[in-house]
Amino acid sequence: MAAIAFVSAVYLVLDFHRMRSSLADRYRGQTLSLAHWTDRTLDHLAGMVRDAARGPNGLCSPEGMGGLVRQFGTIPVVRMEVRDETATSCAWQQGNALERLCAGVPGGDLVRIPLDLGGGRRVLLDLFGNCLFGAIVPMDAENGISHRLLSNPPDESVDGDDDGIWSVVVSPMRLQAGSGKWPVSVVISAPGSTLVQQWAASLPLQLCLISGLGLALWFGPMSVVRRRLSVEGQVRTALRRGDFFLAYLPTVDLASKSWVGAEALLRWRHKHHGVLMPNAFIPWIETSPLIHDTTRWVMIQAAQDLNHMSQRVPDFSIAVNVPPNQFIDPRLVAAADEAFGSRPLALCQVVFELTERQMLDYDAPGLRYVMEELRRRGAQIAVDDFGVGFSNLTLLGMIDVDYVKIDRSFLREEAWADPHMLEAMVPLLRDLGVVIIAEGIESERQLDRVRRCGIRFAQGFLFSRPIELEMLLAALSPAVADPEPA
Ligand code: C2E
Ligand code: MG
Ligand code: MG
Repeated sequence: MAAIAFVSAVYLVLDFHRMRSSLADRYRGQTLSLAHWTDRTLDHLAGMVRDAARGPNGLCSPEGMGGLVRQFGTIPVVRMEVRDETATSCAWQQGNALERLCAGVPGGDLVRIPLDLGGGRRVLLDLFGNCLFGAIVPMDAENGISHRLLSNPPDESVDGDDDGIWSVVVSPMRLQAGSGKWPVSVVISAPGSTLVQQWAASLPLQLCLISGLGLALWFGPMSVVRRRLSVEGQVRTALRRGDFFLAYLPTVDLASKSWVGAEALLRWRHKHHGVLMPNAFIPWIETSPLIHDTTRWVMIQAAQDLNHMSQRVPDFSIAVNVPPNQFIDPRLVAAADEAFGSRPLALCQVVFELTERQMLDYDAPGLRYVMEELRRRGAQIAVDDFGVGFSNLTLLGMIDVDYVKIDRSFLREEAWADPHMLEAMVPLLRDLGVVIIAEGIESERQLDRVRRCGIRFAQGFLFSRPIELEMLLAALSPAVADPEPA
């Protein structure tokens, strides 16, 4: 959630910056065109003054001055002064006509335009700069955006004077373009508060987009990441705190009816959800780097328990489930050494069950090393859940296998519509020289069928459900041979 808030905040800041830049581009263009327009207007004004000065009555006569003033039209000339070399010859001052012309325009900014008439004569024209653009640019005094004409050099103090708190948060915008011919500049300024207001106007739409995107991310790809992180974090804690335990599923020799081995099945005593079965967490763990620590933990625990089991039944074997991605990882050998010891034949009572939920990478360089090292220590290899997933005949052709555990789906009563699948599979497997274990025997009918196929080893609830070590040890006596319904 914090990440989404951070990304949203960064997005909003960038969006404000984007809006400010595009506004600056717009106002920059406006200042340039206003500066050109000003040049043309002042040229026109100068032309009118020069024409009047050359007229028959001259500038200082009432007719000359009056005629010129009438020509000013919408140009907001406030005062005009005609000077010769030494003193003022005459002057004219605007009356209340300007109030009408510049109604609603805030006061200030008088711009002085000097005009040389030649022969030592000059005219000084004072213009009301704020009002000059009134005719062509709508005044936006409410938002504080001002278009002003200033004498050069411009008065720097105009920038952001009245912007209050916004000048601290967001600097005001001020764009300026000088006239090419006259000593004036066009300045457009907008206070920070106006920029924020303009940006805030588009905020509801932005927030809708961000929250839509945030929700899509939160419940889409991020939910996978969140779940993954939370499962991984919990598995790490469980491994550290010892919340995992093993249940053992016996393997029965159908000829002698004795329990010859047991498969270690992982259980998680979860503090909130009670005891969790592997299907709830193993698929997650198998695709995460934590599978290594988990299998290591299983092997260390199984090794300790095997010592007790061996005291009851000396050749008792223990089976550990290992996913394909660990079969190509040399760390599996190191972890097996750590759990069972590295002496020769240290693993002769251990079966590694290849659980093929993902496909084994037969070309992986680690595969040959792991297989050879495990075999050198006496380990046996079983293919689990044969006939489903990736556990199939291809696998048997690629690696050296001791046991094939036929998946219990081939023994389901409802699968008997095709009764020959198991019967067809058994001779084929036997020809390949592997020992068959039938999984998931729940009924006497299933047991009979397995026996008729000549299968010697089996597992299933008919013999026992997965049980904890104490129960297994108690059961490991000569009397446990008869299968009892669970
Ligand atoms: P699996 O290795 O094929 O183990 C046999 C599963 O079938 C066990 O389920 C067992 O309780 C169940 N089962 C045995 N007999 C019967 C039966 O007669 N009827 C029915 N309905 N079920 C039977 P469990 O303990 O839930 O384990 C499920 C799978 O989780 C295992 O299938 C194995 O692939 C995986 N798993 C368990 N422990 C580990 C582990 O330590 N590491 C890894 N990588 N996988 C594990
Ligand atoms: Mg298994
Ligand atoms: Mg299985």
